[in-house]
Amino acid sequence: MVATCKFKYEWVTSGQSAAIKIAFKWNGDVASWSNIGNRCYKIAQNSPSMNFGWFDNNTSDEEFSRVVIHEFGHALGFVHEHQNPTSPIQWNVAEVYNYYALAGWDKEKLIIIF
Ligand SMILES: [Zn+2]
Repeated sequence: MVATCKFKYEWVTSGQSAAIKIAFKWNGDVASWSNIGNRCYKIAQNSPSMNFGWFDNNTSDEEFSRVVIHEFGHALGFVHEHQNPTSPIQWNVAEVYNYYALAGWDKEKLIIIF
């Protein structure tokens, strides 16, 4: 059996309707992230569904490629491997919250992990 996927990429200019809306350092956000799959459609047209937060003129081609592929994977519906419901990871949730709190992330932002 061969699975087929049909994707159509079409670049549009600012102001036109789009499913994936990309920002760079949106409101100063230095994180890179993307909404997952169909959730992109629920994002208001004047807000990004994807953000690249740490690219600058010194970003290597490898880093640029890695992050763009990663975030577009999310936009196509792929989640992180640790978010697979069959993942055997037993999280110490309190330790995860403490670790990311050092980076300024609150519990709401950590919904992308759990
Ligand atoms: Zn990710």
